[in-house]
Amino acid sequence: MTSGHYRRFFCALVLAAALFGAQPARSQENLFSQDVETTKIAEGVYTFRHGFARNIFLVTSEGVIVTDPLSPTSARLMRQEIAKITDLPVKYVVYSHQHWDHVLGGKIFKDEGAAFVSHKNCAAHFERDPHPDLVPPDLTFEGNYTLELGDSKLELLYFGRNHGDCLTVMRPNGASILYIVDLVTPGRTSWATMPDYYPLDYVRTLKELEALANFDQMIAGHGLVPLAPKSAVTERRAYMEALMSAVKKEIDTGAPFNQIAGAIDLPEFRYLAGYDQNIKGNAERMVYYYLMGW
Ligand SMILES: [Zn+2]
Repeated sequence: MTSGHYRRFFCALVLAAALFGAQPARSQENLFSQDVETTKIAEGVYTFRHGFARNIFLVTSEGVIVTDPLSPTSARLMRQEIAKITDLPVKYVVYSHQHWDHVLGGKIFKDEGAAFVSHKNCAAHFERDPHPDLVPPDLTFEGNYTLELGDSKLELLYFGRNHGDCLTVMRPNGASILYIVDLVTPGRTSWATMPDYYPLDYVRTLKELEALANFDQMIAGHGLVPLAPKSAVTERRAYMEALMSAVKKEIDTGAPFNQIAGAIDLPEFRYLAGYDQNIKGNAERMVYYYLMGW
């Protein structure tokens, strides 16, 4: 990082600490950073990060496959990063799921002729909840699908409902590396009240990922670390199971519903980034689940 980066990093940490009571020494993260970083993961496979959001892109012999554009600003910055690597056009944009914090800003790629790809369930969300900065998909798929371009391929893996109902995990070029958005943010708790997570299906999916062959490392949709070990999935699954078990126990003992979330503490997971800010919200989500089946 340049000295300017360090200055912004430090200022943002102080701001984060003030807003959330976070301890900078624990999180070592800059949630407010707007810096850009492109990292080569394997031959033809890159991860692009803008601030706290991350995607991957593939440079193939016949053009570029981009995943989530993230936002109009991020997409513009990513386009500049791609141009430093290849003169070939972006041919495809593949959405990981339907949430606006990942899928906005694709117009810059649409304008150069890219085709947009998503699971069919995402397309239904986009029709129901359109956004002016969202480019709807041209191609949709069900189940698993492999997108091929030139000498490369991007496997799209679907695990059913978990975080939303169209989340797609991606495997570039048959590698043992998966791009996993929002199901796992390595070294962190879940976020806030866990919007659009279905607890049982979520844990089921994490277990299915753990059991997946040819999977050693992951690239997450959020976070500063470009590549994390597969154990990040296990860590998140263990956290979710401990959280659900603790909430269930409180409900079973007849604790007043509105007091349960605030009483939950998981000392063995206090080391996770975001713990202090998120544990109550995460627990609240589980209270809803056990009260409502949702
Ligand atoms: Zn999401």
